[in-house]
Amino acid sequence: MEGFGYISGRLMADKVCLSRIAEEYGTPAYVYSASYLRSRYKALENSLGEIIKCPPLIAYACKSNSNQAVLKVMASMGAGADIVSGGEMIRCLKAGIPADKIVFSGVSKSEQEIELAVKNSIRQINVESEFELHRISEVASRLGKEANVTFRFNPDIAASTHEKISTGRAKDKFGIIREDIERLYEQAASMDGINIRGLHAHIGSQITDVEDFRASYQRLADLASCLVSKKLPLDTLDLGGGIGIIYKYGVDKEPDLKEYARIISETVGKVPGAELVIEPGRFITADAGVLLASLMYVKESAGRKFAVLDAGMNDLMRPALYGSWHEILPLNEKDKEDTEKYDVVGPVCETGDTFAKHRELSRLDANGELLAIMSAGAYGAAMSSNYNTRGFAPEIMVDGEKIAVIRKRQTIEDLIESDEIPPWL
Ligand SMILES: *Cc1c(COP(=O)(O)O)cnc(C)c1O
Repeated sequence: MEGFGYISGRLMADKVCLSRIAEEYGTPAYVYSASYLRSRYKALENSLGEIIKCPPLIAYACKSNSNQAVLKVMASMGAGADIVSGGEMIRCLKAGIPADKIVFSGVSKSEQEIELAVKNSIRQINVESEFELHRISEVASRLGKEANVTFRFNPDIAASTHEKISTGRAKDKFGIIREDIERLYEQAASMDGINIRGLHAHIGSQITDVEDFRASYQRLADLASCLVSKKLPLDTLDLGGGIGIIYKYGVDKEPDLKEYARIISETVGKVPGAELVIEPGRFITADAGVLLASLMYVKESAGRKFAVLDAGMNDLMRPALYGSWHEILPLNEKDKEDTEKYDVVGPVCETGDTFAKHRELSRLDANGELLAIMSAGAYGAAMSSNYNTRGFAPEIMVDGEKIAVIRKRQTIEDLIESDEIPPWL
């Protein structure tokens, strides 16, 4: 088995029993499956390769999970990376992802970050504004180099996803709108220090109906054709990320990868001479990880039952931030008929520290009972914080029968040590 599932009533990560990990390393703890990461990457690569003549470079969006070990697995598969900061660039280079497969997105990049990108000759910087284009030109000229740039197009498309992760509408802060992009592109063609590569778009995240991509890719293809007909250079079309996953079992739909590949092939695939890039994050990492937690106790109050866990919103922020759903499973499989409704909450001093409201779960009967919060491999550890002076949970990687700690639990001493008291206090 690759990834997470029950075998003889015990929830496993590959061939390792999760309760064994919980006992050995304590909770809360993140556990990832390396074999699942590989199989997800392969599934995507294979579907694209079957249908698209020149299949896209898969630039893994490392903000979803940027642990060095995860990046190393991605590098070993031949993945590139989509980064959104200089820090992520250094992480990816260090993990062995080649610079010519790194694309740099993000609404604002500092001079130092641009300098780092230019010095490392990364594949492309995705330009977000006229201001940024000039800044890149200045930095590259000063270094006596050329920066590879693609222009992030805002296609003005509303994807059917959560408000906070929709990025492709004209009212969103991302990209350059149709009225401005052609003029900027032309202008860039004669700017110092700029090597134009093409266009980029990313309309949002957790998109499970792949048809949502079609309109955006078509607009991208139309714009590309228009630029090419004006004899402007274009060798890259970067389609962004956003392919979703099943968070809610039996309700959410698995995106149809073949259909996704067909949509690419029928739209941007028709633009001659353009290398394609995609930037999936969540699709690869989300189901490759779980967050293990222990039940502290069940508190009954005002007719509700609160299942209080030792994991909190500082460990996994998504439910508090987006109201998102994560399945919660017992590590030892239980009677599915004997259920009870719980508000599953963490220990943090915020009402928002709630993983699930009024959730029907197999009856929780013992304090210390072990649970797994599923689909937590993406935007889990990466978004975690030290709020309430809670140290970062450890991250553990499993690969078949092998187990390794890939980030150790942060101790309170580690955490306090980075504070400094001024000598005048
Ligand atoms: C966040 C982001 C991604 C990855 O999104 P997923 O939904 O995790 O696939 C890709 N590209 C850009 C520009 C992003 O900001």
